[in-house]
Amino acid sequence: MTDEPMMQQVADGVWAYVQPDGGWMVNNMGLIDGADGATSVDVTSTERRTRDYLKAAAGVAAPIRRLVLTHSHPDHCNGASLLGEVEIIAHRTVADDLRQPHPLAPHIFEPFEQGDVRPRPPTVVFDTGVTLTPDSRRIDVRHPGTPAHTQGDSYVWLPEERVLFTGDLVFSGGTPFALSGSPAGWLGALEQMAALRPEVVVPGHGAVGGPELPRARRRLPAVPDRRGPGRA
Ligand SMILES: [Zn+2]
Repeated sequence: MTDEPMMQQVADGVWAYVQPDGGWMVNNMGLIDGADGATSVDVTSTERRTRDYLKAAAGVAAPIRRLVLTHSHPDHCNGASLLGEVEIIAHRTVADDLRQPHPLAPHIFEPFEQGDVRPRPPTVVFDTGVTLTPDSRRIDVRHPGTPAHTQGDSYVWLPEERVLFTGDLVFSGGTPFALSGSPAGWLGALEQMAALRPEVVVPGHGAVGGPELPRARRRLPAVPDRRGPGRA
């Protein structure tokens, strides 16, 4: 992997914009092209990074008409103000989260050069999921049904192409950050995504992966038995 962000084609008209090294505030985007405009999965943390992404996106796809926010964290939402009048799709709780800063944010988020960008609230919200069908391409946006990385995660699944954009439900080569959600719920979300049997997995941070997701799941430690030790 180079140090420069790259637009990586993962299927016909489908791209992952991967920002090395996938560390703090350095996330990935998805871009799904179509004659009816492109769909972006997330934006970036800063003005500079989002402008770089939009320039790369304009080189391979139609103008962006829809933005799916996989969750409310600033690395995935800050650049939304640079997208113009697009439809913004997210889980219902993302709208609530974007109205107020996370109570832990001042203690855990180091200051960074954000530039002139700000998150924008969703224009379309859902509880369990929504299916988009621009140009008859099917795009499933699903909440795992439980808090996981946050309370309002979405993953984006393209069933025809078998491409899965996980948002921060998957970190590749980095340590997951679970202060806003539920590690136990997260395990369920991983099971749910593994059951889709994706061929390409675009994580929220880090390199694009493949069907090794189920094997990664098996390496996770078991959830402790709530009954505690010494009881049948
Ligand atoms: Zn992130």
